[in-house]
Amino acid sequence: MAFTLTLTEDERRTLSDRLEQGTVTDSLRWAWENFGQRAAIGTSFQGAGLVMLHHAREAGIPLPVFTLDTGLLFPETLDLKRRLEDFFGITIEAVTPEKTVEEQSAEESPELWNTRPDLCCYLRKVAPLQNRLSTLDVWITGVRRQQAETRENVSVLELYQFDPLRDEYIYKLNPMAAWSRDKVQEFLKRHDIPQNALLSQGYRSIGCWPCTRPVAEGENERAGRWTGFDKKECGIHTFLPMAVTR
Ligand code: SF4
Repeated sequence: MAFTLTLTEDERRTLSDRLEQGTVTDSLRWAWENFGQRAAIGTSFQGAGLVMLHHAREAGIPLPVFTLDTGLLFPETLDLKRRLEDFFGITIEAVTPEKTVEEQSAEESPELWNTRPDLCCYLRKVAPLQNRLSTLDVWITGVRRQQAETRENVSVLELYQFDPLRDEYIYKLNPMAAWSRDKVQEFLKRHDIPQNALLSQGYRSIGCWPCTRPVAEGENERAGRWTGFDKKECGIHTFLPMAVTR
């Protein structure tokens, strides 16, 4: 394993608890000081990711930042990316799939998201992310426990097997794990941080346009993803069986 810092399981748990007691900046600084450019913030520009970008800028922590650009993002999301780059004075790397949407349609089937969304997510999100993670030791995410049942047990620091086909692990750092949606929103407002224009139209968790709808008051914030399918995650945080069997 390509660790520059190797922890036993007990040490990882202890460190995770310590980081949980600290600030977001403490977690980001730990990643930067121990791993430098081999740690990176991955963000889809949901609120929690933006809070991390703010803390990184304020503390002068120049962690690389990347996003998965599936080729199916809303125009409002692409516009937000440009605005965030201006606001924070950073470049956000766009990690893209091997094939364009048109090539995928020709090779698999048109509108694959309507027939095999797990395969679509694997091709457009999971595989490109695995490639990027293979260059890192620490993946820093905006995952929060409150977001969904599938996320309620996440630790601040986890050991993560990012590709089931390879015996390779990295650290997954979740500095925002304990933050509530209300706390994130209050923070973004207080610091006047740009947000996705779709939020004012009832969207909460915003992904690709074919698989995202606005949610009603009281619905879980990720309820607007993959309507009509028994699918809660794209697979980047939970691994798809597709990644193993395809
Ligand atoms: S979220 Fe939808 S469109 Fe985007 S990669 Fe997954 S299935 Fe495809």
